[in-house]
Amino acid sequence: NVWYPGHINKAKRRIKEYLKAVDSILIVLDARAPLATTAFEIDIFKGKNILFVLNKSDIANNELTTKWLQTIGQTAPVISFNKNDSISKIKNFVLKNSKTKLNETRLLIAGVPNVGKSSIINKISGKRSAKTGATPGITRGVQWINLGKIKLLDTPGIVFAKLFNKDIAAKLLLVGSLPIENIDNYDIISRAFDIYKTEANVEEDFEDYITKFGLSRGFISKGGKCDFERSKNIFFKLLSEGKLGKFTYDKDFSMWIYK
Ligand code: GDP
Repeated sequence: NVWYPGHINKAKRRIKEYLKAVDSILIVLDARAPLATTAFEIDIFKGKNILFVLNKSDIANNELTTKWLQTIGQTAPVISFNKNDSISKIKNFVLKNSKTKLNETRLLIAGVPNVGKSSIINKISGKRSAKTGATPGITRGVQWINLGKIKLLDTPGIVFAKLFNKDIAAKLLLVGSLPIENIDNYDIISRAFDIYKTEANVEEDFEDYITKFGLSRGFISKGGKCDFERSKNIFFKLLSEGKLGKFTYDKDFSMWIYK
């Protein structure tokens, strides 16, 4: 369970260690919630060459992704990406925006949980299984993946969003960065459902909607009633996987404050 505080502290220590070895950071955001997925202490990357990826663009709203690319692009290099894209898109993007004076760019892929960091690293390393030995300055078995003029750490940097407000938490739930099983705060669930309701033009309230959803999929508990807990969890899981529609939840472009 990545939400255990001990794990969060460990992840923090790891990132600091990785930062000593790299010059560039590819921050992976969920294209459906670019604001909520940057709600972490981004200052830890100060002094590094920061590049953004709006990932999972296949399950975001295309028009809004274009607008986010324009907005973020005014402050830093950014591309959209998804699992169907060729990994050369990322490679060329990193090369084009490399600022290092050395002859290779040393890159860390970072972001909040579930934005697709590991998928990108696996896709890259799948094609280039040739790894170059141990990583100077980093102890625990982390290695460089050799991409010619790019050296990529084979382990992602995991950062954790600050749940400053209900809205951020709700959006992180909607994109699967906060696992539904870990949320016992009904306000967050309720806010998330309200956001979905607006996007999907749903009229029913939460209880009715989830009950119908569960019954229609056969999530029945003893006595023939809807298994509400299971229905709720599966609803949020499918929604976060884009299987109930392509929705972009962050739309307030003026809130992009990264410089
Ligand atoms: P990480 O926690 O940031 O390392 O995220 P993972 O790489 O483990 O991905 C989290 C989930 O998102 C997995 O179920 C992936 O299959 C899924 N995923 C990753 N990239 C994409 C993408 O571009 N599009 C879609 N639809 N799903 C993706």
